[in-house]
Amino acid sequence: MKATPRPDEGVISWNVNTACNYRCGYCTQRFKDDRGRWSRDTPRFLEAFARLPGRWEVKISGGEPFVHPTLDEIVGGLAGLGHRISVVTNFSASEARLESFVEAARGRVGVFSCSMHLAYVDDVASFARKAAWLEERLRAAADPTLPRPSVNVTTVATKAVIPRLSSLAAIFATHEVAFKVQPEKQERGRPEIEHSLPTLGQHVIEYEPAEREVLLSLGGHNRTGEIVHRYEGRPCWSGARYFILDDLGEAFRCYPARRRRLERMGNFLDASFSLADEPAPCLYATCNCTVPIARAMMPQERQPERGD
Ligand code: SF4
Ligand code: SF4
Repeated sequence: MKATPRPDEGVISWNVNTACNYRCGYCTQRFKDDRGRWSRDTPRFLEAFARLPGRWEVKISGGEPFVHPTLDEIVGGLAGLGHRISVVTNFSASEARLESFVEAARGRVGVFSCSMHLAYVDDVASFARKAAWLEERLRAAADPTLPRPSVNVTTVATKAVIPRLSSLAAIFATHEVAFKVQPEKQERGRPEIEHSLPTLGQHVIEYEPAEREVLLSLGGHNRTGEIVHRYEGRPCWSGARYFILDDLGEAFRCYPARRRRLERMGNFLDASFSLADEPAPCLYATCNCTVPIARAMMPQERQPERGD
């Protein structure tokens, strides 16, 4: 298959910490040995971001990024370097805290993605109102030369939640906030000891046909049109125009690569880090990386919807 055109802007998914103020039952990080880690050397990370060629979108997630003690310094530093900032958060931060983030980002926010964990949300309508308020705030502050910022809300489609999904979607539609579903995933195997197992990795749980229909009617995984993506063998720009980064600076091509400890790109903080020049074939049976999917980094059957 022919590769898609070279994406103008590169994207990084940066897990700045493993720390989180929530303990969701379906959290894929719940088995991590250390859930208190956070990237400690902000200036060194910013020096590394300054070495990247051109403008990148840095998508900050965790754990929960708003519990990171230097989040605003990181965001302000990235804005000063001319990059764009996107976020994945559980949206527990107060409006005052969000205001300080908006100021630090100086109009350079891309996608602000709010994960709604229903065990911690008593009032869905007020969650929707807060998301709508933030989108207005980000758009008012936006640099007009950059793509328009957007706020979306995602929720994990556990079997218990599926019957509620349509009414949840209606609440967000009322507030004109984009609402997306994420299939529930479960871990198979332990990456550090079983890295050659073909079944290793995160797998979407088995859904009944009627449950799949509900998910697809809401756009599939993060509105990519599918619940599970399969691109094995296709040329993908991940590793050249996309990579994932952890709180220690370890860089891998994408999430399936990191789980298997394959296609390591070195440590972002030192000279061992390198970007590929060209797209390369995907080595993985399934792809759960909706960031490169939404940016058409590999050939797909349908045009992806932007916004993850
Ligand atoms: S908010 Fe996210 S990182 Fe925190 S426990 Fe829940 S799923 Fe895990
Ligand atoms: S798993 Fe997805 S992001 Fe990773 S190389 Fe394959 S297609 Fe690209």
